[in-house]
Amino acid sequence: MKTLRDLGDLNGKRVLVRVDFNVPLQNGRVTDDMRIGAALPTIQELRGRGARIVLVSHLGRPKDREASLSLTPVARRLSELIGAPVRLAPGVVGDDVRAAVDELGPGGVLLLENVRYEPGETKNDAELARALADLADVYVDDAFGAAHRAHASTEGVARLVSEHAAGFLLEREVGTLTQVLEDPARPLVSVLGGAKVSDKIGVIDRFLQTADTILIGGAMCFPFLAARGHAVGDSLCAEEDVELAARTLESVAQARAELLLPVDLVLGDRFAEDANVREIDGVDVPDGWMGLDIGQQTRDTYADVIAQAGTVFWNGPMGAFELPPFASGTSAVAHAVALASGTTVVGGGDSAAALRQFGLDGEVTHLSTGGGATLELIEGKQLPGVEALR
Ligand code: ADP
Ligand code: MG
Repeated sequence: MKTLRDLGDLNGKRVLVRVDFNVPLQNGRVTDDMRIGAALPTIQELRGRGARIVLVSHLGRPKDREASLSLTPVARRLSELIGAPVRLAPGVVGDDVRAAVDELGPGGVLLLENVRYEPGETKNDAELARALADLADVYVDDAFGAAHRAHASTEGVARLVSEHAAGFLLEREVGTLTQVLEDPARPLVSVLGGAKVSDKIGVIDRFLQTADTILIGGAMCFPFLAARGHAVGDSLCAEEDVELAARTLESVAQARAELLLPVDLVLGDRFAEDANVREIDGVDVPDGWMGLDIGQQTRDTYADVIAQAGTVFWNGPMGAFELPPFASGTSAVAHAVALASGTTVVGGGDSAAALRQFGLDGEVTHLSTGGGATLELIEGKQLPGVEALR
């Protein structure tokens, strides 16, 4: 993969940069600018090298040119962060956009409109990729969160602009995750939670081969517990997930990793902040109750394993952490990860949100900006956006 260091003189050159500015908005304001901040090192480097910067990103899933998914608030926030004007182009491609690019001076920044306003984006349409390539002398991809998709603004345009490279963020994301998989400081501990086994079965299977210990929490534990014959009550537990979990449990004996499941739980009588709450020793969930967090003993065991890790990879909350009565397990794991002396890597949108909720987002070695891309990389899939940069 080529990087910014492989690019020659950029002074006065038009550099098209694919960024992931798919950020949450509320009332026309950016409510979480982590993804914008993550692209700043690349943008500032390119400004310093005198490039004329054309940024391109998607935002949400517009069906039409919905004004509510315009990148206007993002341009404003980016401008505040870099302390320089950021102009928003009148569209994605076309004569007006080309004129705006022509007006850019060295170090200047233009943000194209939401690239998904163009229906060809998600189809990796050759004509759209060509129109984007025509705006650029050099292409830089810094959108790790979009690297698992072959779209016009990722892999399509990369194939058309021969001078191309990964930005600092993409380079760091791929480098860190590759290190976790291929050459981690040991023991490697993988903490996996979240809603569904089927989302993450590929990740579990990979870590069974590469990790030393896998700690399972979140709703994801119930298919495993059901497969072991426990009652799950009203807990989130899809039938097909039980089959997947049963198959995984069969392979555990031959696996490198040891897989730990919760030994106690916090139950609620419904998924709500004011639910009735009950803690149980053991993992048999009575009817009328649902498991919504891991219990105290499980928290202590998981925290101990994390403390002794050389490397921790954490994806997926340990419970319904958005509801205060069920946040303790996720909080315990987040604090253990933050305190761990080993390398700590956290991926997944909700896990990142949990870290921020506990004020610990600055306390990990690497907080990944990718959700799906992180999981696919861990599963061992090739990411089209990355492959196109070779
Ligand atoms: P990430 O975004 O970090 O990959 P997921 O999207 O897989 O994580 O899972 C996060 C969601 O899982 C959260 O909304 C959380 O409420 C939910 N969740 C975790 N544990 C449980 C549980 N025991 N019961 C119901 N929902 C749960
Ligand atoms: Mg999620």
